[in-house]
Amino acid sequence: MTCRGRFAPSPTGALHLGSLVAAVGSCLCARHAGGQWLLRMDDIDPPREVPGAAQAILDALPKFGLVADAPALLQSQRQAAYAAAFERLRAADQVFPCWCSRSQLAANGGMHRDGVCVARPDPARPPAWRLRVPEVTIAFDDLLQGTQRQSLRQEAGDFVIRRVEGGYAYQLACVVDDAFQGITEVVRGTDLLASTARQIWLQQCLGLPTPAYRHLPLVLDARGDKLSKSTHAQPLDDADPLPALRRALAFLRVPVPADIRDPPALLHAALQTFDPARLPRDSACPP
Ligand SMILES: [Zn+2]
Repeated sequence: MTCRGRFAPSPTGALHLGSLVAAVGSCLCARHAGGQWLLRMDDIDPPREVPGAAQAILDALPKFGLVADAPALLQSQRQAAYAAAFERLRAADQVFPCWCSRSQLAANGGMHRDGVCVARPDPARPPAWRLRVPEVTIAFDDLLQGTQRQSLRQEAGDFVIRRVEGGYAYQLACVVDDAFQGITEVVRGTDLLASTARQIWLQQCLGLPTPAYRHLPLVLDARGDKLSKSTHAQPLDDADPLPALRRALAFLRVPVPADIRDPPALLHAALQTFDPARLPRDSACPP
């Protein structure tokens, strides 16, 4: 089976060093395995998105030498696929409508469990839909972070897969699209490590294959917080991509010659020396 990796940013702002590390890391892992590298735009949460950011990210990536093997898949165009997956879960009685508010769930540690609602059904307003999560422990061997184990009922509870306003939750969309794109290895930041058990459980509920997972360390700012669009991480200058690309490669501990000035050539050189076994495990400030 051909290895297939992907980079799946959300268009909540411009590309920053943290997202470039995930893009470069996922690309090198896929190409090192002789596989393909695909793109997906996780644009299913319009209130969090910045107009024009999706296109700006898609335009910027090739300037860093990152060219995918197929046109990007846009989650905003995939509602029918998510609806079909949701209907399969509903037909199997694996989901239930829920009118509980966050404050109502606060007494239970903010967790919804055993399909038991605090709020009464309210026909006057639309419900969220939650997955029934039984007592189950999900274990998987992350290729970088080692064996992971999560008691799903304890740590996630009955999680939302369709929101009150009708949008599908990230966990469902991600699982449906990873299967649709034939992804065999998911390489992403450790901020998503805790989501993986929920995604593996959803894959099992939907009869979808489970890819391998490799969670990369996060790029931290001077205060030790994750670099992110929401913390106003410095947007990358795609008119001068070389310095950021070198920093991303240095963060991932990929040695490259100092004299290469062309991003695609630099990535090509990185591929020659890249060894996934040398990837760092722990989140850190950038070099
Ligand atoms: Zn409820």
